[in-house]
Amino acid sequence: MTAEPHIIVLGAGFAGAGAVRKLKDAPVRITIIDQNDYHTFQPLLYQLATNELDTTQVGFPVRETMHRQDNAVFHQAKVTGVDLAGKQVHLDGMEPLAYDYLVVGLGAVVNTFGVPGADDHAFPLYTIRDALRLKYQLLQTLEAVDKDPSLIDDGALTFCVVGGGPTGVETAGALAEFLHFVAEEDYPNLPIKEKAQVILLEASPHLLGPFKPKLQKYARKTLEKLGVSVRTGQIVAEIAPTHVTLKSGEVIKTHTLIWGAGIQVNPLAHSLGVEQGKGGRIPVEDDLRLKDHPEVFVVGDIAIITDTKKDRQLPQLGSVAQQAGHHAGENIARLVQGKPAEPFEYRDKGTMATIGRGAAVVEMPEHGTMTGHAAWLAWMAVHAALLSGGEEKTTTIVDWGWNVATKKRGKRIMVTDEDVLSGDTEE
Ligand SMILES: Cc1cc2nc3c(=O)[nH]c(=O)nc-3n(C[C@H](O)[C@H](O)[C@H](O)COP(=O)(O)OP(=O)(O)OC[C@H]3O[C@@H](n4cnc5c(N)ncnc54)[C@H](O)[C@@H]3O)c2cc1C
Repeated sequence: MTAEPHIIVLGAGFAGAGAVRKLKDAPVRITIIDQNDYHTFQPLLYQLATNELDTTQVGFPVRETMHRQDNAVFHQAKVTGVDLAGKQVHLDGMEPLAYDYLVVGLGAVVNTFGVPGADDHAFPLYTIRDALRLKYQLLQTLEAVDKDPSLIDDGALTFCVVGGGPTGVETAGALAEFLHFVAEEDYPNLPIKEKAQVILLEASPHLLGPFKPKLQKYARKTLEKLGVSVRTGQIVAEIAPTHVTLKSGEVIKTHTLIWGAGIQVNPLAHSLGVEQGKGGRIPVEDDLRLKDHPEVFVVGDIAIITDTKKDRQLPQLGSVAQQAGHHAGENIARLVQGKPAEPFEYRDKGTMATIGRGAAVVEMPEHGTMTGHAAWLAWMAVHAALLSGGEEKTTTIVDWGWNVATKKRGKRIMVTDEDVLSGDTEE
């Protein structure tokens, strides 16, 4: 046993990993816990699903991030509860762990808003498993149609994407490119050019809600050029395995409906017994600590963080989570040295979304905007900088360059986790 304070970090996402990094040189013991043994790079999940990137470019081993950090250990375990009064974390399959400081960075989960059939038949895009499930659905559907072209009339080549935010827009664009640049060549006998369609359904009148109108229009026009049918003002009422019903009563035949329409707070937030704000998220003080629990920091998507300078709640973004995580780590290092914690200030680098090969929209903090290739290069630079390891950065940039130059995607073979884990052998 040492006298060094014990810091427990829950979640190895942008927020948790950010906190651990900033405690590298602090005289503390750190335990980081995540249910997965990898960090998930959510912004690129759609590229895993549409065969642009591989699993290891979107998921990074947490243990590897610990290699150069002697004061930290990692446990792959599910957090089942936090006893704030007793300063203990409860874990599945492990003894409870006691902490001196706690960082809660457990993120969010998908929200299907109770739409009937969504939980059973939609394909969400929030985890690596979701992305792989969607990838295999796309490839298996094409193989099924190849064997039985009558499935086309049943809607097998109609792909619906629900949600016109960045996730839906990026996914719809990437999917249209996959179908028209790759699947058309892979399946020369199938009428993909004539029959395959991507339909983007959005409830509000515009795509990319928080962006400026001219960027919304650019996104719509670019998607339409890629062949995506953009249908705004459409509310999904019910989802079945082979069709979706809209609130208008219209029925669209589809075997693949991708859900990119919303997130909700991690359910553990409800069990902490602390004040919860909009959507169940946990409001924090300006130094990111929990009111009445100064030893607990809450950061990332699970928190409500207010930008005190602009008096607005910060959005649930990777950059917000990462900067807040860094700040929580730095504040713990200050507290351990007997110094006061400092308020968090967010450095806004802009918001952005890609729409396809070489096309993106960027809205900068001082109201400037960019579209097209320049915006796409900015998007690429920001996302490459956020990626975890040097190898991931290099291979990802090479793959992006290769995809742009050749329109090819080389990541489309099917070996499912289930095949591997169940011990199925190849025949
Ligand atoms: C499809 C998609 C695209 C996005 N695109 C962008 C983008 O382009 N730009 C951008 O800035 N942001 C984007 N975001 C948002 C960004 O990914 C999130 O804001 C960011 O990941 C939040 O970081 P976090 O650390 O709070 O949570 P997360 O990254 O979600 O990390 C939470 C961690 O907690 C772990 N965890 C959860 N529950 C438990 C438990 N009970 N026990 C143990 N571990 C647990 C999870 O496994 C996970 O590793 C996107 C999000 C999605 C879903």
